Amino acid sequence: MMTESKCSVCRHPERDTLERELIAGLTLRDAADKYALGKDALGRHKRNHLSKALKAVQERREMAGAQKAVDRAEELYVKASAILEGAEQEGQGALALSAIKELRATVELLAKLTGELDERPQVNVLNVSSSPEWLAIQQAMLESLAPFPEARIAVAGTLEELEA
Ligand SMILES: [Zn+2]
Repeated sequence: MMTESKCSVCRHPERDTLERELIAGLTLRDAADKYALGKDALGRHKRNHLSKALKAVQERREMAGAQKAVDRAEELYVKASAILEGAEQEGQGALALSAIKELRATVELLAKLTGELDERPQVNVLNVSSSPEWLAIQQAMLESLAPFPEARIAVAGTLEELEA
């Protein structure tokens, strides 16, 4: 006995090609025109029936996007570090402090992005505060702030608030 799917997209003879095109970014509207299918049916099919292999391709693509964001955040980190170094050498406490704020934001962003890349879904971003990397960064921040006691105290205070 044949079970017939009610989904017009599942029954479509060019289903494989159509799915690949959807994954590649073909819009539902264009797919509807090209394959003479309903836009709603295509949307339902995409949500509920799209084959697992193709979904995996889509997920890998999203991961690649997150990886690019990580690369960019790392570039920002390097730039902010360079600014911090320059500010230290020139004795510019205020600039050093804003570079440190930028570094902290970038570290948080990196932690978040890395959490997204991690396959475990329930990564707690706040756990970064006890990671060895973060502790090393804190240490490095406070050491570079040695010439600026006021900034050092302010940063230490903020770090304590973060830990709490
Ligand atoms: Zn379907």
